[in-house]
Amino acid sequence: MAVRRSTGNGKRRRKVQSPVLARSPQRAVLRVAPPAQRVPPPPDEARRMRAKMETALAEANRAHERLREAIELLPEAMVFLDAEGRYILWNKKYAEFYRRSADLFAPGVRLEDTLRVGVARGDYVEAVGREEEWIAERLGQLRQPDGGRHEQWLADGRCILIEERQTSDGGVIGLRVDITEMKQREASFRLLFEGNPVPMIICNPDDAVVVSANEAAMAHYGYDQAEFETLTLRDIQAFDTELPWRDQSADDEGSARTWKHVKVDGSLIDVAIYARMLTYDGRPAVLLALIDITERKRAEARLTFVAQHDALTGLPTRNLLRRHIDETLARGRRAGDKVALLLLDVDNFKIINDTLGHDIGDELLRNVARRLRSSLRDEDAVARLGSDEFAIVQSAVMRPEDAVLLAKRLIDAVSHPYLFNGHSVVVGASVGIALAPGDGEDSDNLLKSADMALSRAKQDARGGYCFFEKGMDASAQARRRIEADLRAAIDGDVLRPHYQPLVDLRSGRITGFEALVRWPHPERGMIPPSEFIPVAEETGLINAIGGAMLRQACIDAATWPDEVRVAVNLSSLQIRAGNLLSVVMDALKRAGLPARRLELEITETVLLDKSDEVAATLHALRALGVRISMDDFGTGYSSLSYLRSFPFDKIKIDRSFVHDLGANRDAQAIVRAIISLGKGLGVTITAEGVETEAELICLRDEGCHEGQGFLFSKARPHAEIVQLLHAQRMARGQAMLGVDPIMVA
Ligand code: C2E
Ligand code: MG
Ligand code: MG
Repeated sequence: MAVRRSTGNGKRRRKVQSPVLARSPQRAVLRVAPPAQRVPPPPDEARRMRAKMETALAEANRAHERLREAIELLPEAMVFLDAEGRYILWNKKYAEFYRRSADLFAPGVRLEDTLRVGVARGDYVEAVGREEEWIAERLGQLRQPDGGRHEQWLADGRCILIEERQTSDGGVIGLRVDITEMKQREASFRLLFEGNPVPMIICNPDDAVVVSANEAAMAHYGYDQAEFETLTLRDIQAFDTELPWRDQSADDEGSARTWKHVKVDGSLIDVAIYARMLTYDGRPAVLLALIDITERKRAEARLTFVAQHDALTGLPTRNLLRRHIDETLARGRRAGDKVALLLLDVDNFKIINDTLGHDIGDELLRNVARRLRSSLRDEDAVARLGSDEFAIVQSAVMRPEDAVLLAKRLIDAVSHPYLFNGHSVVVGASVGIALAPGDGEDSDNLLKSADMALSRAKQDARGGYCFFEKGMDASAQARRRIEADLRAAIDGDVLRPHYQPLVDLRSGRITGFEALVRWPHPERGMIPPSEFIPVAEETGLINAIGGAMLRQACIDAATWPDEVRVAVNLSSLQIRAGNLLSVVMDALKRAGLPARRLELEITETVLLDKSDEVAATLHALRALGVRISMDDFGTGYSSLSYLRSFPFDKIKIDRSFVHDLGANRDAQAIVRAIISLGKGLGVTITAEGVETEAELICLRDEGCHEGQGFLFSKARPHAEIVQLLHAQRMARGQAMLGVDPIMVA
């Protein structure tokens, strides 16, 4: 083997002659002055010179040996050629790389000759079909003065990187590295890159010049490879933003960031970019995978819009409003401006919805939203919070009056009649106003304050506006406390009916009692219904309370004389709950009370709900024999039409008309009209709130049938009623009850 020969034992080495020495400059010096041309030295001198030469030769041999050992340690293959391209020295690795030609290597053999044999054997795949040309090229590379660097593919599939440098004596030192694995990796990368369906480009990390683009990138962006290579990444970035691989920590590498890119046709796309540093063609490069997320972003934006906007009106919903409020508050703080939050509630929307149908209800809300929007400046915002509740954010408010002006404008806009399918619909609106700074420093608190102001506006008088006041917070807290206590009271069965007599004004006899709920609170004493019935109605607790009162009233009434009736108040919510008929029947049955002895008092609000269910329930109750009374008559909106819509058994004139009846002629006229109306309809007329003798006389003169009021008695616990009824039995035979001292409150 050639390798053995070149690195074999000393004998062989001597025989082979050290090529390095043969061609070394020292040897050249020796040749310049050959001993034959000199005068023979004297014998002593000749001995000395021979000894010197032998020492030098031994030294050279040792140096050669060291060099040989040194190149064997190198991981690369290495070869030395002389100026004629002849082999001088090579290491084992070299022989290994060119194992198919290794048998040809020998000192003094020309590289060109080994190449020729190798080419003829087909050892160099790139030479196949162009043998002479290839050999010429190869020898040309060898003679390049600054050293050549090129790759060479061998027949066994390996790729060798060749680096060659000329030595000072015209020879060549050649280094060889096996780069087969790297080439295979590169080939797989190219395959992956070029055939990848994801648009990819490779850039120079320093100047962002595009080095290569794959098919998908060309198709997506519309540039061909040549055009791409004239661009830098900045040319396709829509904005002059940082390059994707800059400002990117090692942790970020591989994670996507989004950019706006521009295609050749000028269209903008959103791109998620995955950047990865790598070596490409032996140079540092950055590989960018460009994923078009334009559609995804659009879909996300659509979803976000849908999530943040109300489907019916297209207005922002509560979440978006909150953000808007907080931003407006922050801007207001910086500018030193006030911000007003107005909550607007459409009055009686529920009735419109129930009576005219949901389509018209929806149409109404869409119209309200449109009118609100068009009543605002561009910088103000409107959102829909609940079914008929809207929020308006007014920025740059200088004085509270600015908010008042807006509130009035909005109420006015909403209150103009609407025309739907030939129906003219009129609604009102109430507005609660909260101002910042002052009423809340963030969206949640400002909303809470405006909500309290709205509740007050609705309580006070519908169709108006109301500013938030500090006390409202306390009253809202008190309301929450009442709710909690009321739940406990219901659970503990603490609520009791008290009974207030209804007196026949002609005979003076008690015809019945109205059951009025009483709440004995452990700390606050007796809490009046006006304080907790509205809370019970808001929270739905009224169903439990109403049911309990009805059952207890029936049980108590069953112990009274047969001609004495009991009147129980019903909330409109109980009627809408849907099970009222069975609740009433059950109460009557349990108590053993005939239906004719039960009166149910309803107010006009019940009849505002024109749904078939409400009418059917009332008719069914009446069919049972239960009497239905209209309570608080005269305080509603259009009482006369309601009188026609349902055959009431009794009308109770609201105590506001009875009050001052003796002194006030207008009140007298109204009461007289109601009494004659009732008589015309053939129903019993009861006057509520009779407090004075004068009122009693007046009512009796007008022909009013019944009276109820403190003049006769306040509402009393059942035990006292039992005594009262006993006293009445005792007084039987008297023509008139009059002002019985027992009965005066
Ligand atoms: P209402 O049904 O109109 O009951 C009559 C109210 O007038 C009672 O007030 C009664 O105490 C009061 N009153 C009676 N005579 C006079 C008088 O001469 N002068 C004055 N100033 N007031 C008089 P109360 O008990 O405070 O009840 C208030 C309202 O609470 C009732 O008005 C009724 O709407 C409601 N309510 C009471 N109990 C119940 C109940 O069990 N269920 C329902 N849903 N509502 C109830
Ligand atoms: Mg009543
Ligand atoms: Mg009443």
